[in-house]
Amino acid sequence: ASGRVVVLGGGFGGASAARALHQAGLSVTLVEAETTYTACPFSNEVMVGLRPMTAQRFGYEGLKASGVTVVQARASGIDGRARRVALADGTALPYDRLILSPGIALRFDALPGYDEAAAEVMPHAWKAGAQTELLARQLAAMPDGGTVVLSVPGNPYRCPPGPYERASLIAHLLKTQKPRSKLIVLDAKDTFSKQKLFEAAWKALYPDHLEYVPLAAGGQVTAVDPGTMTVRTDFSDYRAAVACIIPPQRAAPIAAAAGVADRSGWCPIDPVTFESRLVPSIHVIGDAAIAGAMPKSAFSANAQAKVCAEAVADLLAGRPPVTPKLINTCYSLVAPGYGISVAGVYHPVNGVLADVEGAGGTSPLDAPAELRTEEAAHAAAWYRTITGDVFG
Ligand code: FAD
Repeated sequence: ASGRVVVLGGGFGGASAARALHQAGLSVTLVEAETTYTACPFSNEVMVGLRPMTAQRFGYEGLKASGVTVVQARASGIDGRARRVALADGTALPYDRLILSPGIALRFDALPGYDEAAAEVMPHAWKAGAQTELLARQLAAMPDGGTVVLSVPGNPYRCPPGPYERASLIAHLLKTQKPRSKLIVLDAKDTFSKQKLFEAAWKALYPDHLEYVPLAAGGQVTAVDPGTMTVRTDFSDYRAAVACIIPPQRAAPIAAAAGVADRSGWCPIDPVTFESRLVPSIHVIGDAAIAGAMPKSAFSANAQAKVCAEAVADLLAGRPPVTPKLINTCYSLVAPGYGISVAGVYHPVNGVLADVEGAGGTSPLDAPAELRTEEAAHAAAWYRTITGDVFG
């Protein structure tokens, strides 16, 4: 196949797509704003001091060495009709097919009181990097006896089990280092990923350090005040020593600029090719895409990248794209050496990615400690494998 392919976004989705396209023999240009990528998976461990931040950082040397052209620049606009990506330095990159994997934007217009300035006081830490380090410093500096409040948004958002892994590891930190402190989790929904496994672990490990408040019990946060460190719900005001507010999200701004985001803020796609339903020749993968039953995860972004790269190669060669099956597995740590997982298989049904019935599932609810230890080791191995696959 021949044709100019541009990939925008060098995270788990985009970097994987660029590598797969290159391996398929296509000439590909990857556009990424940052020189170093900071990975979110395992950043909850960094936040509680169980892991160095350096373990989250990856450069683009590996991709360059493998033959991918990497352009270090921020894309400022996309002209879908002229098929051009405008870069912030004023240059333009023409394409025949564009793959967008720009990740998320935090919605600073969704929760009264929570804007960018508030996030410097009440971190979201939902994009790994400075925010993770800020939350880590606040947790380390908090005097024993303080209340930590964690606010969790409604669906959809990046990494469905991520807030509950975060809750678990904060509770672990409190239990082991600040035993008179407590974490209150305020959730805007009543059900969540791996719920039974998390709740069983919380009951066993953190009965005195973690209180979970679902929507039905008044868990929806309606406003925050960083000045007084107050987190408000319709039922109560919570005074926090440390507040982590994970706000609602949408696709990164470049998606709306390209016209591929719909009114939900996310990008509708064809589940066979990941081509946008709104603008032809632009494909959207990763967190930004509406991928039906597939969760917004690094594992999903990597799997979608491979399917999308193959579809793009087929389309450029004039071959019909193959109907895919995709897999996702999400690991979470509820304590050091205690891992749990959920896995799923997905396929296109009536224009959306749906669960393959009977495939996948979660770790067993009753399991010996050795299995939890094994799953924690699997999680670490998964991280090494995927980051090697994407950035190595
Ligand atoms: P990203 O990885 O965010 O990459 C987007 C890239 O695009 C960025 O590098 C950005 O700089 C670039 N970009 C955006 N706009 C522009 C522009 N205009 N110009 C140039 N470049 C641009 N997933 C798992 O599978 N397992 C886990 O255990 C896991 N744990 C997580 C824990 C936490 C705390 C969090 C927050 C997330 C976790 N995730 C996990 C989810 C995972 O991080 C995301 O799903 C994944 O990063 C999505 O990849 P992406 O390519 O869509 O976006």
